[in-house]
Amino acid sequence: MKDVSKTVRTTCPYCAVQCNFDLHLEDGLAVKITPTKECAVAGGTVCKKGLASLSDLRHKDRLTSPLLRVNGELRPVSWQEALDAFAARVGPLLDSDPAQLGVFGSGALTNEKTYLLGKLARVGFGTPNIDYNGRFCMSSAATAMNRSFGLDRGLGFPLADIAKSDLILLFGANVAETLPPVMQYLKAAKDRGARIVNIDPRATPGLAQVQLSPLPGTDHLIAGLLLNLLNGWGRLRPSAPADGTDEVLAAVQDLTLNGVAESCGVDAADLLRLARSYAQAHLPLILSGRGPEQQVNGTDTVSSLINLAFLSGHFGRPGGGYGTLTGQGNGQGGREHGQKNDQLPGYRHLKDPADRQFMADFWGVPETGLPGVGLSAQELFLACGEEVRALIVIGSNPAVSAPGAARVRERLAALDFLVVIDVLPSETAMMADLVLPGSMWAEEEGTTTNLEGRVQRRRRAMTVPGLAREDWRIMCDLAHAAGRGEKFTYPDFAALQAEFFAATRGGRADYSGLSAARLDVQTYQWPVTHDAHPGTPHPYFAPYRTPTGRARLHPVAMQTPPRAALTLTTGRIAGQYQSGTQTRRNPGLKGVADVQMHPDTARVHGLMHGQPVVLSGPDGETTLPANVTPKVRPGVAFVAFHWPFSANELTSATTLDPHSRMPAFKSAVLNASATSRA
Ligand code: SF4
Repeated sequence: MKDVSKTVRTTCPYCAVQCNFDLHLEDGLAVKITPTKECAVAGGTVCKKGLASLSDLRHKDRLTSPLLRVNGELRPVSWQEALDAFAARVGPLLDSDPAQLGVFGSGALTNEKTYLLGKLARVGFGTPNIDYNGRFCMSSAATAMNRSFGLDRGLGFPLADIAKSDLILLFGANVAETLPPVMQYLKAAKDRGARIVNIDPRATPGLAQVQLSPLPGTDHLIAGLLLNLLNGWGRLRPSAPADGTDEVLAAVQDLTLNGVAESCGVDAADLLRLARSYAQAHLPLILSGRGPEQQVNGTDTVSSLINLAFLSGHFGRPGGGYGTLTGQGNGQGGREHGQKNDQLPGYRHLKDPADRQFMADFWGVPETGLPGVGLSAQELFLACGEEVRALIVIGSNPAVSAPGAARVRERLAALDFLVVIDVLPSETAMMADLVLPGSMWAEEEGTTTNLEGRVQRRRRAMTVPGLAREDWRIMCDLAHAAGRGEKFTYPDFAALQAEFFAATRGGRADYSGLSAARLDVQTYQWPVTHDAHPGTPHPYFAPYRTPTGRARLHPVAMQTPPRAALTLTTGRIAGQYQSGTQTRRNPGLKGVADVQMHPDTARVHGLMHGQPVVLSGPDGETTLPANVTPKVRPGVAFVAFHWPFSANELTSATTLDPHSRMPAFKSAVLNASATSRA
């Protein structure tokens, strides 16, 4: 007999919009998703990825038992055997030098799991070496916003503000394919007469009236040129008191229209039109995606966008200024609560004595017992098998998603012990010594924070299958197995959540005024500092959270990147998500691994559409079919990163932004040639 049907309202896990939907259940299993009109962000829409997320929950490949590698093979074991193995292999490392253990988290984790993972690494295990896959996603924009304003909330305004803008510059932001509901706000702006300019080496789909296709890595030159022209036209009026203005303007004073046009590979007339549009707009808005950010100069490039928005007087105005479009499911919350190598919960800084003391007191440990700043994500992988002997990976697939993936796989293989907590057998999980089956989005409680800093409830609708356990319980189990469980005993999830909210009190990302009960009624944009606080739609106002309260503008070196015959850029396509562990298994979601290139580029390299192409980058090579399309500008090749042996075989394992440690995903120099099989 059928169980009573029930409906649970929760949030989609597959991108940072975090659309709300109703999950309909029968006999305890999710059978249907319907969008909800009450959703504060998507207004009753759910994209095809969100709809398809249903079938992942009980996929036939779902991990339902711990797996332990015995004689080279992963075999199902009991939890007791799994945890005993963890204790036997990791315990001695912790006893001799805890830094030998690395922890790698994910922007897919809820805020509570993010908090718990950071606490587990630093308080439980005592290692400084924790970082997460958001390092590969948001770190440049986060670093740039932090250094100018002491605060990092991707969008310092509700999405609805976008509709107020009259000029929207999209820098490397593929909104239509990666954040579909955001298109409704662009459309509303366009319907009111706004111009939309897509600045991207690829003509991605969307509503733009103007397409500008610069070479990868040259966005800072465009922003610098606009700033210099506006200065010459007398159109600058800083948004608020700021330090560094003279230095910023001096850094761009030698930029000329023709010089920048040549460096960027675009027409000078198009750049002049862009500058005039910006100067004449009442509320220009600059939105960046990963295009300008995943560069070796990603932080400086974002600073150049901030400088333009700030000095032209639009920063912080509803509908104008600058914002970055966070991508991962909990990319915003995931970077706020302690899984970054330099950060404590509530967006506190590990190097700040007052922040350290607060968290030490909160956790009841000596301040001197808190480790310092550890290795960043890619540095952590490259240290595997050397000073890092064991690694815990949760909710991430670096064997595919890390740059220079072949080299990263070599390093993972050199570890003494690799532990993966995941829900499906990712490529990384299949390399592990111990695989622990965790929980999916519909099987857990928690909160997530979307791209506009909006905190929302995730509600449990189903139980985990088989022997799988909720992730937060697994983290506590590991602490206890290692004999370090004293501070990892929670009677239930509510106790963990209450501790998490309290830990953020007074931090930059303060959630202390939140509770599950308040979030049942509505969503809130942080900071929310007490239990009657209404939330903060616009957090970027002076005085800023800098030592002086003034903005700190950073001059940016206006260097032209070396010109290559063929430059790689990487990115997402509509139907897939991240390294594809879930979405590649979903027959309803399409897409193939290929290399997209302009007909002129194909001609130069003697290639034809559909032909297998051998591509080689700084740290590896792969072979992909050519997809010849005019949508990619000449001299650039685009490869999506959702498949193994595709984009990240070609990216550099070692080229990192010096400020954010972001890898240069979008500017590797490539060689391309036809295979003999052509
Ligand atoms: Fe919404 Fe993003 Fe999920 Fe699509 S993938 S339903 S846009 S949250």
